[in-house]
Amino acid sequence: MRPLRETQEPLLRRAQEHALDYLATVEDRAIFPTRDARAALEAFEEPLPEVGAEPLEMLDQLHRLGSPATTAQVGGRYFGFVNGGAHPPAVAARWLADVWDQNVGLGVMSPVCQRLEEVTERWLVDLLHLPAGTAAGFVTGTSIAITCALAAARNELLSRAGWDVAGQGLFGAPPLRVVVGEEAHVAVFRSLSILGLGRERVEIVPSDDQGRLRPERLPALDDRTLVVAQAGNVNSGAFDPMRPICEAARAAGAWVHVDGAFGLWAGASRRAFPMYDGVQLADSWSVDAHKTLNAPYDCGIVLCRDRRALVAALSAQASYLLETGGREGLATTPDMSRRGRVVDLWATLKTLGRRGVERLVDQLCERAWQCADRLRDHGFEVPNEVVFNQVLVAFRDQPTVDALLRELTDSGECWCGSAVWRGRPVVRISVCSARTTREDIERTVAAFVAARERIEGPLAPEATTEGTNGHGR
Ligand SMILES: *Cc1c(COP(=O)(O)O)cnc(C)c1O
Repeated sequence: MRPLRETQEPLLRRAQEHALDYLATVEDRAIFPTRDARAALEAFEEPLPEVGAEPLEMLDQLHRLGSPATTAQVGGRYFGFVNGGAHPPAVAARWLADVWDQNVGLGVMSPVCQRLEEVTERWLVDLLHLPAGTAAGFVTGTSIAITCALAAARNELLSRAGWDVAGQGLFGAPPLRVVVGEEAHVAVFRSLSILGLGRERVEIVPSDDQGRLRPERLPALDDRTLVVAQAGNVNSGAFDPMRPICEAARAAGAWVHVDGAFGLWAGASRRAFPMYDGVQLADSWSVDAHKTLNAPYDCGIVLCRDRRALVAALSAQASYLLETGGREGLATTPDMSRRGRVVDLWATLKTLGRRGVERLVDQLCERAWQCADRLRDHGFEVPNEVVFNQVLVAFRDQPTVDALLRELTDSGECWCGSAVWRGRPVVRISVCSARTTREDIERTVAAFVAARERIEGPLAPEATTEGTNGHGR
């Protein structure tokens, strides 16, 4: 056998070459892959090789076919979903950690990742103003983070009622109540259904015109109630009024979970803090580092005020699982084996620092305001108060939205998603990459204007000057 370094070196160098080539061109090409690039993916359709391919050829094929068929998410004009970019130092740290190939389930499997999880947990609690001692679990994304947090909430509320869910399941358990805002994210309902809490059994609280849960419409809460609030509506970016929700829940002994997939990072911004305030009174939180923070995928975090409740809900015991007495990665996640994704997150926080995270959050908001202002200048209707990084553009009907999105995509200039916002078809612009410059916003607005010109006629969008009321600044 050749030494490890010799076998890896040509591969890592080739991967690096292709990666650098990718980065050199990605900002100059269509944001969504061209028809030709997508058609070329057909070449991946081959039977499982009987005999393994030559590794360098595999890398070449991956770059030749794969790179052009990616969405240019690491550039500045991808505005789909709430996807975020990739902070370059974190990508580099991740490469190194990939070579380490650590399993973070137990401290004995990776002392370095155990230590980085301890440190990063403390940094997050500090940065987001959460209660001292809050536990973090490093998971794939917010969907899993919500599921873990709601499992802790469910088990803890029922344990206080004398019922052991972990041992006895939900069969014959006293009922819990689940209260959610009308605008709760679909991931919340998926978690409720997975956890046996029922996505249809919820008590739904009406929202206001920005999608904020109306606290005065909360039902009477009690100590068998789980409340799910939202820091950052996936369409409007709006935050539920956290303080009244959390105070009402606390007074009643209810549990509050905050879904803050992209919005929880507002806690790092002094400007955004008034909207965030009260979040720290909740019992559990879910957030993605791969969205607003621009850590690479996949990087979600579950946070729980009561470490014991989270650990109890996710616990696994077997004699071969040797515990070190320190933090054990598998205690706060549903996985046993997982990669050291904390390295990516640690590297992001280490190189941005508190001030860098604040600047990033503020920059995304400023670009969103710029985008909304410039679109309104051109007669587009922005129906949401732009309080964070989300900008909606309303059109009179779905065919207009579809036609506009097709034009935008074909222009190669930007990529946006769509949604139905309070009954109206909208284009969604989610400003969540650190790479997005003022110029990127100007190019994007110009692309909107050009796209509208191309579809004018029977599908002309409303050119209205209504809706120019405040941006929530
Ligand atoms: C993205 C998002 C989720 C789901 O997070 P994943 O990381 O995709 O699992 C949940 N809630 C909100 C508000 C989101 O924006």
